[in-house]
Parts: sequence; C-alpha cells; structure tokens
Amino acid sequence: MFTEPHNPEISVSDLLLYLNCPRKVYFVSRGFELFPEINVSRVERMLLKELSLTYPESVKKYSLNADNLHKELEIDLAQICIDLPLLFPGELEGVGKDIFEEAETRARAKIPEIANNLLRAVEEYGKEPMLAALTPVKTEPFLSSEKLNLKGVPSKLVCFEGLHVPTILKPGNCPDQGVWASDRIHVAALVLLLEAESGKEIPFAFVEYVSFGLLRRVIIRSSDRREVLQICRRVEKIKTGFMPERKEEKFCNECNFLEHCTSSPSLMSKFF
Ligand code: SF4
Repeated sequence: MFTEPHNPEISVSDLLLYLNCPRKVYFVSRGFELFPEINVSRVERMLLKELSLTYPESVKKYSLNADNLHKELEIDLAQICIDLPLLFPGELEGVGKDIFEEAETRARAKIPEIANNLLRAVEEYGKEPMLAALTPVKTEPFLSSEKLNLKGVPSKLVCFEGLHVPTILKPGNCPDQGVWASDRIHVAALVLLLEAESGKEIPFAFVEYVSFGLLRRVIIRSSDRREVLQICRRVEKIKTGFMPERKEEKFCNECNFLEHCTSSPSLMSKFF
C-alpha cells in the first residue's frame, strides 16, 4: 500500500515531530495524516502569530505610550480576524463563527500583557535594537541544504548586529527564562540551514513568544548543533522504515495514531 522512501528528505518539521514523539514520524512517513484539530485554541494561536507580524509597525509608532500601543494592537487584531480565513482558506474551511469569536476574545485578552512586555523591552534594550530584532528582512524564506539533507522555513529572518538570523514565532507558553528545549533545537536546525546557504557562522537566533510579546535571544551551542545532527540521522532511519520503540507519551490518548500504535506487531505488518 505504501512505497518505501528511498532517500528520505528531512524537514525541520520532521525534527519537531520527532521531539514530540518519534513514532509519529514513522506514521506520517508511511502516509498517515496528522489531522491537527481546528479548535478555538488553534485559531487563537494563528491570530496571535499574525498579530506578532504587526509588532514592528506598532512599536515604531507607539513605543512610548502603553494606551496607544494597546489600542493599535486591538485594531490590528480586528483586521487579522477578517483576513485570517483568506490567508488559510484550506485549513480554516468549515470552521464555525463561534470558534472564530471565542478565539478572538481569547487573543484580545492577551493584548494588555503583550503591549506591556513590548514596552518594557523597548525601555530595557532601546527602540532601534528592538525594531531590528522584530522587523523581518525576509518572511518565511525556504532554506535547504543538500549536505545536511535538510530543509526548513523560519518564520522570518531579521538583520541584527549585522547578521541575518532566523526567528521562530511560538504562540504557546513561555518559560520563565530562556526558551523551551524543543524551541532551541528548532532554531539550531534553522541556523545550520542558514549557515549552509550563507557560509557564515550564525551564533544566535530569536524565539518570539507571541502570546506574551516576549522576544528571547538564543545562543546556539555546539551541543545544540550536535543534537540536531543526531536527530536528523534518527529521523532518516525512521523514514527508511525503522519503527522506534513505543514509549507511553503524555499525549498518547489525544493522538490520532493511538489505534495503530497499540496494535500488535503482526497486525501492524498488515498495515505497512
Ligand atoms: S500513540 Fe503515543 S507513542 Fe504512539 S504515535 Fe501517538 S503519541 Fe506516539
């Protein structure tokens, strides 16, 4: 039923899936679909990601006035709510009005904190450095490297301290300090790709926690690079047919592969 991939291409999204659960990489590579559920929190995250793209303009105009920045972000959000179905027609097809309204209400509730954090960062780091760190020189550029056998798309590239560096937009929770381990691997993989294209060392990248208006700079260490390369090799192995051990994961009960994943090996061999 499914043909075995010969020389599997690896993308950064495979690495993220691996970090979520190695077995998911196996199922997706065999043609099963992830079917991420479109619910209120997914739409809310999409809205907040889009809203973050307006931060540079808003900060440029209102970096000294919390009330005005707050109002500007509210106006931007209202426009994004209209635009979102046009930006993602396939993904949002059939999503009910009630889901959009609830997602908008939740996203709107985050705006005061976003505005306060943006202003605090402008005060701490200065307006120009903040604008440099937020303003894209390229949005969603496609990066690939034959040598790494890897491809990926950062949310944006920004020009900071004379270097083009990748940024990822993360709408989930934000750690008290630094970035989540999976976000570190995500940006490290993008740094490796960008270095392969530019031939220059890129010592850092950014993670924007868009639900909070927080920007975190990540120094990319050799250990991060090593981990990315190790995960690439493991993903390659999985994509050529190796099924990783099943570990009881936190999210197994919500996983749409659960039924296949818990089948006996003899039954599984009928599927694959
Ligand atoms: S059921 Fe659990 S172990 Fe299996 S693929 Fe899903 S998350 Fe991974």
